[in-house]
Amino acid sequence: MECRDAKLKVQALIDNELPQEEIDEVVDHIQSCYRCREDYVSLLKLQRKMKGLQYPEPPKEWFEELQKKRGRRLSSSLGLVLFLGSYLLLLGYALYSLFSDSGAGLFIKIVVGGIIAGMLFLLGVTIADRVRESKTDKYKEVMK
Ligand SMILES: [Zn+2]
Repeated sequence: MECRDAKLKVQALIDNELPQEEIDEVVDHIQSCYRCREDYVSLLKLQRKMKGLQYPEPPKEWFEELQKKRGRRLSSSLGLVLFLGSYLLLLGYALYSLFSDSGAGLFIKIVVGGIIAGMLFLLGVTIADRVRESKTDKYKEVMK
């Protein structure tokens, strides 16, 4: 076994993750190679130090608070859907009334049509950006 291969397997040996059939080979190398034995010893020391470290558990209230946050987010999403849905319905009704009214001038129809087309264009660009961003978001799994 070469040092390069041994270095890769020494950490696995320390973590007890090395397959049984490879253990002897790595141990033989460590016994015969000073450098790899040094690496092994320093990794072993590091592992012992890490075992002594305590990671504090978050307090119970933190988990309860998390549940409340989820409920609040759901409520605010529902509120947003209701608000936007009603707003869009109202806007649609107003537009329908404007464009079906033969008494309204052509100028106002063109201007309002331009505003609506611009808004839809901006909305499309924003949604496309968000979709593209969410595909490459490496913190997607992180809880907010
Ligand atoms: Zn070696």
